[in-house]
Amino acid sequence: MFENLSDKLDRAFKVLKGQGTITEINVAETMKEIRKALLDADVNYKTAKAFTDDVKQKALGNNVLTSISPGQLLTKLMNDELAELMGGTAAELDVKASPTVILIAGLNGAGKTTFTGKLANYLKTQKNKKPLLVADDIYRPAAIDQLEVLAGQVGAAVYTNRESKDPIAIAKEGVAYAKQNGYNVVIIDTAGRLSIDEALMVEIEQVKAAVNPQEILFVVDSMTGQDAVNTAKVFNDRLDFTGVVLTKLDGDTRGGAALSIKSVVNKPIKFIGTGEKMDAIDVFHPDRMASRILG
Ligand code: GDP
Repeated sequence: MFENLSDKLDRAFKVLKGQGTITEINVAETMKEIRKALLDADVNYKTAKAFTDDVKQKALGNNVLTSISPGQLLTKLMNDELAELMGGTAAELDVKASPTVILIAGLNGAGKTTFTGKLANYLKTQKNKKPLLVADDIYRPAAIDQLEVLAGQVGAAVYTNRESKDPIAIAKEGVAYAKQNGYNVVIIDTAGRLSIDEALMVEIEQVKAAVNPQEILFVVDSMTGQDAVNTAKVFNDRLDFTGVVLTKLDGDTRGGAALSIKSVVNKPIKFIGTGEKMDAIDVFHPDRMASRILG
């Protein structure tokens, strides 16, 4: 995960690490290298610039230069700032309401259906919940089959209505079914498209209005870098989602989406996907991720 970015940041730091004295010029040059490393990792340009300007200012203001181990202090500062950039502290999923309704949104192939299964597994095993999955992709029968298979793997129930062509009605039926049958979380897996599509956006806005979800999670493939960030912006403008799920981090060597998304859409990353299996899901911890990136 993010090996490429870690390597580049490490190289940018080499000059400073272990040095007894550091000059203002050293810091400025290192920050330039760090900015380059971030841009290479497909971090949003404004984010990278604001970040390195900020670290530089804090480094110069915090007596880093005159400290005994300036390299170490700067690393610590970078660690804190990187964590802050990714949201600071972990953002909890709000599952207090009974039932809690969670809407899953995103483009095709992002990993929505896989994540729906993983989230059910997480809520069952970690939060002691009884989730109901709702198959709300009316365009791809295979998507309903896939959800049923995944639900079977994690032992969760699924609500489907294969006769209906009305995703708004299906979502409402799903919530009603959950209430009648004692499910305390409803996870609605919605339809995606290969690219942003107006009809789809209107449809998911209508589903949102119909079921009034406590959580709307936007699922996006981490490996798509700035495309992920741009798509997040469009979905957030329309849906005002409550959190991001970054999938396929196991294959992402650069980390541009993880580092930029919070600063661009101002919504937290709540979960990450780290593989295809149903237990490859983690709550996102910005501080741990920062330490991991800096190695
Ligand atoms: P959807 O179209 O958004 O519902 O996407 P799917 O859930 O069908 O996922 C698309 C592909 O990505 C599938 O082959 C999944 O197994 C795979 N996938 C989903 N999440 C992850 C992940 O975190 N890591 C990896 N390596 N693959 C994933």
